[in-house]
Amino acid sequence: MIITRTKKEFDRYYKLIKESKKTVGFVPTMGALHEGHLSLIKRSNKENNFTVVSIFVNPAQFNNATDLINYPRNEEKDFDLLLKALCDIVFVPDVNEMYPERDNRVFEFNGLDRLMEGKYREGHFNGVAQIVSKLFKIIKPNRAYFGRKDFQQAAIIKSMNNNYLKDLHIEIVTCDIIREKDGLAMSSRNQLLNESERKSAVRISQTLNKYVKQYSKYSVQELIKKITDEINQDYNLKVEYIDIVDDEDLQNVNKIVPGKTTFCVAVYDGEIRLIDNLAVK
Ligand code: AMP
Repeated sequence: MIITRTKKEFDRYYKLIKESKKTVGFVPTMGALHEGHLSLIKRSNKENNFTVVSIFVNPAQFNNATDLINYPRNEEKDFDLLLKALCDIVFVPDVNEMYPERDNRVFEFNGLDRLMEGKYREGHFNGVAQIVSKLFKIIKPNRAYFGRKDFQQAAIIKSMNNNYLKDLHIEIVTCDIIREKDGLAMSSRNQLLNESERKSAVRISQTLNKYVKQYSKYSVQELIKKITDEINQDYNLKVEYIDIVDDEDLQNVNKIVPGKTTFCVAVYDGEIRLIDNLAVK
């Protein structure tokens, strides 16, 4: 595995791969890697000749300074996991490398960024688009892999890719959520939970599961109320939003259609903000 820290260094190695006309899969991450990230790398390895992984904690997508400072970082452990996962090149730039000057680009996502996460994390998706578009232009992969864990992000990346980067011909692949044995969606932020918060966190996926299964018994409004109340019963947990949305346009639905509807939540567990979602099958 080759570790590169600058665009110049990356290009030097990458030139050979690109010249070989083999296919490249790209997995962008913020590090503190876990099985969720590794599942994307595995899928990329299966579908491409080479896999490039980036690790970059992108300040532009953090709307909360404490969250950025506390974001878990563990480069050595990440490199170990990447080596085992058969990543070919890892790109680990620093902030000056990615933002030599201020990025003032403002992206338009046809309203997708004004819902759910966008309502509570101002500028978050614009920051995501800034970094992902920069990385796409450097790496120019055939395919790029994103987790359904960040359901809205995947939709926004697809929109950005179609509207702004069509010339690069990158296929966006969305992969299933990987969960802990007890159902908690894997996330780098889970490392920040204390023992009591970690126990509480299970309630999020359990409650989603319970009501997704019973979706036909209640109205959408009743479901939202029941899920909110049940999660909030735990003293560590506080629901920020629950939306039941259409898989395509992410708009709130009045009627749940299996195969086309997803329950999405954001919950504070103590100080740590967790997101999860579950599709109605
Ligand atoms: P992050 O490092 O949190 O920015 O995540 C990098 C990529 O990994 C994103 O596409 C995430 O959606 C994906 N990812 C994070 N957690 C999971 C998970 N539990 N299962 C599947 N993909 C995930």
